Amino acid sequence: MNKPLILVVEDDAPIRNLMTTTLKTHDYRYLVADCGEAALREAATSNPDIMLLDLGLPDLDGVEVIRRVRSWSDMPIIVISARSEDADKIEALDSGADDYLTKPFSVEELLARLRVTQRRLAAMHTSGSPVFTNGQLTIDFAAGCAFLDGKELHLTPIEYKLLCLMAHNCGKVLTHTYITQKVWGTSWENDVASLRVFMATLRKKLESAPGSPQYIQTHIGVGYRMMKIE
Ligand code: CA
Repeated sequence: MNKPLILVVEDDAPIRNLMTTTLKTHDYRYLVADCGEAALREAATSNPDIMLLDLGLPDLDGVEVIRRVRSWSDMPIIVISARSEDADKIEALDSGADDYLTKPFSVEELLARLRVTQRRLAAMHTSGSPVFTNGQLTIDFAAGCAFLDGKELHLTPIEYKLLCLMAHNCGKVLTHTYITQKVWGTSWENDVASLRVFMATLRKKLESAPGSPQYIQTHIGVGYRMMKIE
């Protein structure tokens, strides 16, 4: 896959320069926008593959940018925020962002997030397939069963639903609210507690070392993500 075109949305010039220098050094193509309106314009006219979006912009709130872009595009959006509060990340993720970076971040972290997102982009192009594979995991959606290393996993209906939801969104951070709404149709405090329990039982079946999971990553206070295994 060719290096994707990245739209960098950041009003802080030194941070923007650090990001564009990093992208340039690693042969990414990029565009820049220094406010929300410019970001929306570039997103609509230049068709970037990935958006790196600062949440604190001078004109529009970054979350508003996400909502507007999501009304017509599913391009991956990685949120970059100086605000370390979980509430901001969660609001951005629930509005349709794919991932987040918290300032200050290292160049290595930025590149790692881009690699995860590129794998997600590649997977998006093959979605719609009746069979999902990731590492040793295979899900046959038509048959309604999952296999690990060729052996069928004996999952409860909720564990299976949870696994399919994570697989359909492989590479993307899903918030507790998003998951509980998809699995139970509600999002009460108790559902989040139940989610932890079901996630623990699913991991026991899925992960060879549930203490250091390979497939499903925990984002403490935020949610979970299925990692694309190469
Ligand atoms: Ca800013």
